Amino acid sequence: MMETRTRFAPSPTGYMHIGNLRTALYEYLIAKANGGKFILRIEDTDQKRYVEGATDIIYKTLKRVGMNWDEGPDIGGNFGPYIQSERKAIYAEYAHKLVELGGAHYCFCKQKEENEDDEEETQETHEKFKDPCLNISLDEAKKRIAAGEPYVIRQTINKKGTSVFHDVVYGEIDIDYNELDEGVLLKTDGMPTYNFANVIDDHLMNITHVVRGNEYISSTPKYNLIYETFGWTPPIYVHVPQVMKDAQHKLSKRNGDASFQDLVAKGYLPEAVLNYIALLGWNPGTEQEIFSLSELEKVFTCERLNKSPAIFDITKLTWMNGCYIRNLSAEEFHKTAMNYYDHLLGRGYNLEALSAVLQPRVEVLNDITEQTQFLAQMPEYDIALYENAKMKTTPEIAKNTMKLAYDVLAGLSVWDNETLFSSLKEAAAANGFKNGQILYPLRVALSGLQTTPGGATEIAVVLGKSETLNRINIALAKL
Ligand code: GLU
Repeated sequence: MMETRTRFAPSPTGYMHIGNLRTALYEYLIAKANGGKFILRIEDTDQKRYVEGATDIIYKTLKRVGMNWDEGPDIGGNFGPYIQSERKAIYAEYAHKLVELGGAHYCFCKQKEENEDDEEETQETHEKFKDPCLNISLDEAKKRIAAGEPYVIRQTINKKGTSVFHDVVYGEIDIDYNELDEGVLLKTDGMPTYNFANVIDDHLMNITHVVRGNEYISSTPKYNLIYETFGWTPPIYVHVPQVMKDAQHKLSKRNGDASFQDLVAKGYLPEAVLNYIALLGWNPGTEQEIFSLSELEKVFTCERLNKSPAIFDITKLTWMNGCYIRNLSAEEFHKTAMNYYDHLLGRGYNLEALSAVLQPRVEVLNDITEQTQFLAQMPEYDIALYENAKMKTTPEIAKNTMKLAYDVLAGLSVWDNETLFSSLKEAAAANGFKNGQILYPLRVALSGLQTTPGGATEIAVVLGKSETLNRINIALAKL
């Protein structure tokens, strides 16, 4: 049996689109499920779009989510080079061969814009099947090339009828050859277009499964023609629905959720993002939703990929992220949360205690900054905040209970939640107050807020004894 070989073939655009990362994940999982190889190939033939440092972002992202590749530009392999711009000579050789075999032709028409990767520019001079250069004999074309005339190599669509091919997700697909354009395969500068390079590379790298967005379906008959002309076998096609913002709009970098880096910067954990995107177009056939990468490796099958639109639901991702945050060990969470505590450093606060308060409550790490702002800076508040019917408090009652709280807390030498809570409860009872009449005003006194992450005594533990007493004093002065 042939070894399964999949490839992730990103263009270095400077960020990792969520849809591309999902493609990579499916490629990776197909390879792992079959004991095969996962190959990384950098598709940088469109030099106009080249972005400095972009390849590094690809490496870092894949490593960060644990998708290690078996062959690639940085580690080599038997089928290199793995960067398309280093394979120019290979494409040229095959493009000229394809001309000899009748699958392509030389075209001397002035290109609208030289080196254009996009083929739309061909519309005016090259209506389907009407490229005037098709009338130039091969001998004559070769003479013009030898004389130094600039040219491109264009695909020749020499078939009539319907192209039929199988796709793992979409089933049988029929496309009329009439719908195919005779696009550029090799540009004037000798660079291939995607439409040519992907075929040559997938064949030469022995790729068995190609996973890519469904926007490539309509071009697939063109690729199949090239395979056929060379006498090669096409790979197994796995086209997946594109990741959408909603039914009409693609998820784009502009709306801020499309890039892996943006999501991580917003406080989503890489593991949660990976888990979420696995389910955007695939389902395990069970109720389980939380999967680590190694669990996915065990349960993934191509048959459960589906063609329904993949709508990116940030609410669902946020929920999932919360699950991942809660699953972290206390140490791991504290270590991660420390990145969000800059505004709290150097104050003698008990940040471990703060992490323990936050871990069950935070869904996205960036929320930490906002949720803890009151610890860094007491917000201005009106004493009307002490009025709370449910807690049966008024500013008048608060004045008494805050005096009491001050005395009780000032006398404590142990400063943990249990001690604080039981001491205040006892003092309240002994003085005829309800728990809420001391705890609610204390929360207001320590935070200037009606609601906080964690209760009054938990906040006091984070603030430490002296800042707690200090804030109670400020409250008493107001009251
Ligand atoms: N370089 C193409 C892209 O980034 C790859 C498509 C494919 O996987 O064939 O969209």
